[in-house]
Amino acid sequence: MSDTIMKGYGEDVFSEKAIRKFLPKQVAAKLLATMRDGKPLDPSIADAVAAGMKDWAVGKGATHFTHWFQPLTGGTAEKHDAFLEPTGPAQAVQRFSGKNLIGGEADASSFPSGGLRSTFEARGYTAWDPTSPAFVKRHENGATLCIPTAFCSFTGDTLDMKTPLLRSLQALTRAMERLMAKFSQPKAHVEVTLGAEQEYFLVDRRFYLKRPDLLQTGRTVFGAAPAKHQQLDDHYFGAIKPRVLKFMTEVEQRLWQLGIPAKTRHNEVAPAQFELAPMFEDLNLAVDHNMLIMEVLRQTAESNGLVCLLHEKPFKGVNGSGKHCNWSVAYGGRNLLTPGANPRENAIFLTVLLAVIRAIDKHADILRMSTAGAGNDHRLGANEAPPAIISIFLGDELNAVLDSIESGTRQMRRGGKGGKLRVGVDTLPVLPKDTTDRNRTSPFAFTGNKFEFRAPGSSQNCAQSQMVLNTIVAESIDAICDKLEAMKGDFNENLQELLQRLVKAHRRVVFSGDGYSSNWPKEAAKRGLPNLHDTPAALAPLRDPANIALFEKYGVLSKTEMLSRWEIGHEDYLRRVRIEASVSLEIARSMVRPVVADEFSRLAAALGQAKSDGLKFGIRGLTALSSKLGAGLDDLHVKCDRLETALARKRHEAQIAAMNDLRRTVDRLECLVDDSRWPLPKYREILFVH
Ligand code: ADP
Ligand code: MG
Repeated sequence: MSDTIMKGYGEDVFSEKAIRKFLPKQVAAKLLATMRDGKPLDPSIADAVAAGMKDWAVGKGATHFTHWFQPLTGGTAEKHDAFLEPTGPAQAVQRFSGKNLIGGEADASSFPSGGLRSTFEARGYTAWDPTSPAFVKRHENGATLCIPTAFCSFTGDTLDMKTPLLRSLQALTRAMERLMAKFSQPKAHVEVTLGAEQEYFLVDRRFYLKRPDLLQTGRTVFGAAPAKHQQLDDHYFGAIKPRVLKFMTEVEQRLWQLGIPAKTRHNEVAPAQFELAPMFEDLNLAVDHNMLIMEVLRQTAESNGLVCLLHEKPFKGVNGSGKHCNWSVAYGGRNLLTPGANPRENAIFLTVLLAVIRAIDKHADILRMSTAGAGNDHRLGANEAPPAIISIFLGDELNAVLDSIESGTRQMRRGGKGGKLRVGVDTLPVLPKDTTDRNRTSPFAFTGNKFEFRAPGSSQNCAQSQMVLNTIVAESIDAICDKLEAMKGDFNENLQELLQRLVKAHRRVVFSGDGYSSNWPKEAAKRGLPNLHDTPAALAPLRDPANIALFEKYGVLSKTEMLSRWEIGHEDYLRRVRIEASVSLEIARSMVRPVVADEFSRLAAALGQAKSDGLKFGIRGLTALSSKLGAGLDDLHVKCDRLETALARKRHEAQIAAMNDLRRTVDRLECLVDDSRWPLPKYREILFVH
């Protein structure tokens, strides 16, 4: 059994094996070189590649192909075309040309463009990204050949997530090559890697269908906290229930067919919350794979009578879902975030480490921007971690190393001798790669040989945060190279001096304490670290001239593209808040109020009857209960009206405040009204019944 599964690994990918089987030898070699080194594709082989790819896909049952891309909606998009080509009356063949493979035209008018696309020119163009292999998506009646592509407007402005990501990879690659040359390293391949841990909730479809809020917004806008949720910590890493395990294994088998190395699965902190983590891969591929993971999770849930919720905060009062993005850079196959075995490798490690620290400190605002979104606002900056303040956690050992660089004296904790740490001459203490020293409250943590960015939300495309991270680190590396070039004298001594300056200038972003504590925002303010607590604040850095200059300098995003992203993000935020507010109002008025009114009138009638019958008992109870319900009913009325006014005024702050206020009333009523009549499935059912 397991043997057949492993044989099926990657079978739906136009992999090296498939390429060699379906393409002429020379064509295969050229294509593989393109895929490996990101070299531009030789146009003369496009037709041959397309023909082989089609034969392979048709063998998998494919009838159609699609350019698969990632528009700025945050999801993926596809438009299918059949291979079919009529050759005469009632005659047709299946054909797929190089032209069809390399580029496509898609009507872009319904994708967000943030003003980039003028109304008379609604065309968008897709362009093949040969560095991410084509694959087939199966469905009950066949399959579709999917070609990963970038998406841009008629004017060449990017309308997607992939294009700037690829550009940022180029920028970081160039900067790393420059730095490695400073260390006299031979030219080698730079590989940026990502391992994205995907958190999600799984709920029974029957409950989901009875919750218009979940259906329409992905989160519950009402719902009282159940007596027991996650306080006992009994779900985290707990035994996985059979129905969930069946779902998980189906997900994994599908992912393995798609060549996605799904590796880890477990229960998360909140009830009904789970995590799937694949093995890390080349960043661009890992981003595509994460998009597919989300899709497979959703689809497999559906076929199992479940619903996979990828929203960052489906349930108030229980943990939200993130997408931890584990990032590192390797040079010639060696991870640069691993302290090395010799002084030179250590010096490289420290330089890259400080480049990252500098980047995060200097560009915290734009990194925070990359995680902005209505859903993520309920995690970042709310009573949950990671906080909206970007800081770095390094761990005791590295903090001690920074101490000794900063002071110029050796203060190693473990068996360190006194004296100066000489960068490029001394070796570093061995850093533990275990998980004991981890600080789970930090948004950006060094975890042994990689950085783990924990702020991205569970529904977000990783490309956004990784594109920013690559760009700001490239800028830092270049700044370091500039400085080194301007310095005369001994390289190691110069580097030592530079690193010392960097530690002094940027150490404020390093924070080892509890990121959830109420003191941290105050402390962070003293350190001058930005605290961008909601989406509008977090999007603002896109319009900052310094950030625009930075992204233009690296050719990652133009000014127009930055401003259009601001507009799209802002619009998306306002729309989401508005939809949530409208759904709240509708549920409160048309589902909750009738039930409360009905119960109230029954109680009031019973009370009147009890009084007129001169009953000795029950009058107190009925009076108390009907008063509470009556007050709740009045409250509901007032708060619905207030929310309606806020909706009419179109002010999102007022809408959020009115929505939260209404929620308090509704959640209180939920605990008062006859359980059998409450119109919405409750948290204790949704979160615990699988
Ligand atoms: P956790 O953070 O849950 O303890 P792990 O340490 O197992 O998890 O790693 C989480 C993710 O980090 C996995 O996807 C793993 O493949 C990835 N990862 C490990 N090493 C690297 C690396 N060098 N670059 C990028 N991601 C990595
Ligand atoms: Mg993790």
